[in-house]
Amino acid sequence: MSVTHIIGAGLAGLSAAVAITYAGGRVKIYEASAMAGGRARSYHDKKLGIEIDNGNHMLLSGNHSAETYLRRIGAEHRFKSPKEAAFSFCDLSDKERFTIKLSNGFVPWWVLCAKSRVPHSKAKDYLALLSLLLADHNTKIGDIIPDNTALWRKLLDPFFVSVLNTPAKDGAACLAAAVIRETLMKGGKACIPRIAYPNLASSFIDPALDYLKARGVEVDYRNRLRQIHFSGQDVTSLEFAHQDIKLEKGDKVIIALPAWVVQSLIPDIETPDKYQAIINAHFLMKPTAAMPHIMGVVGGTADWIFTFENRISVTISAANHLLALEKEELVKRIWDDIQTVYAFKQDMPEWQVVTEKRATFEATVDQNNRRPPAVTAWNNLFLAGNWVRTGLPATIESAIRSGQTAADLALSHS
Ligand SMILES: Cc1cc2nc3c(=O)[nH]c(=O)nc-3n(C[C@H](O)[C@H](O)[C@H](O)COP(=O)(O)OP(=O)(O)OC[C@H]3O[C@@H](n4cnc5c(N)ncnc54)[C@H](O)[C@@H]3O)c2cc1C
Repeated sequence: MSVTHIIGAGLAGLSAAVAITYAGGRVKIYEASAMAGGRARSYHDKKLGIEIDNGNHMLLSGNHSAETYLRRIGAEHRFKSPKEAAFSFCDLSDKERFTIKLSNGFVPWWVLCAKSRVPHSKAKDYLALLSLLLADHNTKIGDIIPDNTALWRKLLDPFFVSVLNTPAKDGAACLAAAVIRETLMKGGKACIPRIAYPNLASSFIDPALDYLKARGVEVDYRNRLRQIHFSGQDVTSLEFAHQDIKLEKGDKVIIALPAWVVQSLIPDIETPDKYQAIINAHFLMKPTAAMPHIMGVVGGTADWIFTFENRISVTISAANHLLALEKEELVKRIWDDIQTVYAFKQDMPEWQVVTEKRATFEATVDQNNRRPPAVTAWNNLFLAGNWVRTGLPATIESAIRSGQTAADLALSHS
């Protein structure tokens, strides 16, 4: 039986491996580092003495490719989720606290009711979201949605920054529209936040590795792909740190690597080449029962505050503007935000800051238009990764969907 060689054991590579194995195909997986998960990984932090994630990740219940993956690996219950799509916010500029509670069905009744929509917003403000749905590939969000409304400041700006990991006004309107189509437009049932619990590895990574191991597939770690050899329309061999693999007739290759690595491996490929950072700050502290599992912060340094059993974790998206700041100054600002949001005063507990400088490609019009499709100029070579042309921003859903698409292409290739 032919083999599909999958390079990269991040979510895209694992998703491709699970999909092919699920369909009865054979795979081999190679990974440069000592662990799977890539940009969605958990590890033991020596300073805090606990297991943490490189970053808090939020999935929405409408992310259907991720749900398929989780169902296949038996991990769909390893999440903490509220029963309904309700998001609490604290606006630090006017100290206003509010909760947006989406209606369960398709009809957005919540927009029509002053108590459930964003404070000081008007129902007609939300019509701007409809024009977003009609946007073409060359339109920015800032070209369509006015930024002088309470709706923009208190909800749309933070929402687009988190889903695009890009300053909201510069974001590609078509990417924001894709997220809205797959979540908001399907009603509250598709917008329930799902947080991996107790950590990313236990929900997205370890169950996939167990699923694959039970079917005879193990990841070949610390084995970096150095070069791809081509002949005519085909890949003929793969040169790794530890071995060369000569492809047999019918074998396929799925490259599930970050865009900046792919640029050096595949000739003349155009990929996104600008990135935005995500910063996470973890504080060793047991949250009180009054602290919700997720809290949105408007007008502060922090964007979202997450509570876990043994820590409070803050996420800041589109964080390139904070990269030059000293960590001590940054963490002080974040701790101030937490104390204001939860109205307490306390010395800062032990903390850790994790900065992912190239967390995702910048979801601007220019960068989105540089995304290649999964098929390549070579018959037996397919691409996966959150940056491949999935029509979505660089999210978990995009990474997993790209893996499933590459798997389908590999399975149907003869
Ligand atoms: C801090 C942070 C927070 C995030 N929050 C969210 C969120 O809340 N919601 C959401 O939906 N998404 C979020 N994301 C995005 C999400 O994590 C990514 O979309 C996803 O993990 C990308 O997966 P991937 O497989 O495409 O790439 P990667 O995870 O980068 O996987 C690529 C793999 O290839 C390996 N590799 C690299 N070079 C080689 C080589 N030469 N040979 C072999 N292997 C190699 C790498 O080690 C890595 O394991 C976040 C990302 C970050 C960084």
